[in-house]
Amino acid sequence: DELSNKIAAGEVVERPASVVKELVENSLDANSRQIRVDVEEGGLTLIRILDDGDGIDGDDLETAFFRHATSKIRNDHDLFRIATLGFRGEALPSIASVSRLTLKTCNGNHEGHEIKLEGGRITSKGSSPSRKGTEIIVTDLFYNTPARLKYLKTVHTELGHISDVVNRMALAHPEVAFHLTHNGKTLLKTMGNGDMLRVISAIYGSHVAKNMLEVKGETLDFTVKGYVAKPEVTRSNRSYMSTIINGRFIRNYPLMRAIQDGYHTLLPIGKFPIVVLHIEMDPILIDVNVHPSKLEVRLSKEQALQELVTRSLKEVFQRTRF
Ligand code: ADP
Ligand code: MG
Repeated sequence: DELSNKIAAGEVVERPASVVKELVENSLDANSRQIRVDVEEGGLTLIRILDDGDGIDGDDLETAFFRHATSKIRNDHDLFRIATLGFRGEALPSIASVSRLTLKTCNGNHEGHEIKLEGGRITSKGSSPSRKGTEIIVTDLFYNTPARLKYLKTVHTELGHISDVVNRMALAHPEVAFHLTHNGKTLLKTMGNGDMLRVISAIYGSHVAKNMLEVKGETLDFTVKGYVAKPEVTRSNRSYMSTIINGRFIRNYPLMRAIQDGYHTLLPIGKFPIVVLHIEMDPILIDVNVHPSKLEVRLSKEQALQELVTRSLKEVFQRTRF
């Protein structure tokens, strides 16, 4: 019901960037190749996500706004092998409950559908053009939850968080073309041709991209591949160490530790590297069902993975002369 959706929204939708994260995850789960994110005033007045993914069937459109209505998990087996970014069925009802939302979608086979909600209540339904994919427009976020609205920071801060979210998604999915605009100005545009270095260049600049070394490693359980910056290109905080497991951007301190161990004595004190690592493993080995934000995960064979990461980096630095 409306109240429990609003309560869930408190967990899922903390700020405009959380809306962007959840909606882009949905676009990725729907096999989109191009995802466009337009925001205005740090997402406070408008967030618009346009994808070219599978779309939603007309029959499933209303259900998508019911709590725990996910199309992604059918049974326990699925729950322990989560291969999609979403699985809780909470994002759409939560976002809709604290905003004015318009969703247009088409699966490519039939005509498109459109649905509008205000504060979680459906206000209109109709048809829409039959362009394959989904467009979601969220305006007036938190208009009916004044306490939450008050807690939001400046446009600049909120935009920074949105930018971080889209950058992470782009690093995690070089095969998808991302386009982020703010008040009509392009902030990020990636090609979607799978070239990780080009994404790194688009986000961190060509100077960084030029100073990246390729990393590869593999055991029976894991494959690791990505890029690590030469030790002379460092940053003063940890947020430039990106770890992506099965397409999901995650934050894991043991893994960051393993990366720093890979640099061994090469890093100056108080400096951190720029790293983008893609790790693939059987979904059974990772528990993503720890926190609603899904940023933290539990790993079954954490130590073995740490060792692989450290070893793979050391190999690169041994091969490279400075
Ligand atoms: P979850 O992602 O956990 O399944 P959501 O509330 O985020 O839950 O989305 C509900 C459902 O709506 C999804 O399971 C999916 O079927 C559908 N959906 C949402 N966004 C999209 C999209 N961009 N393209 C296709 N289907 C979507
Ligand atoms: Mg989702």
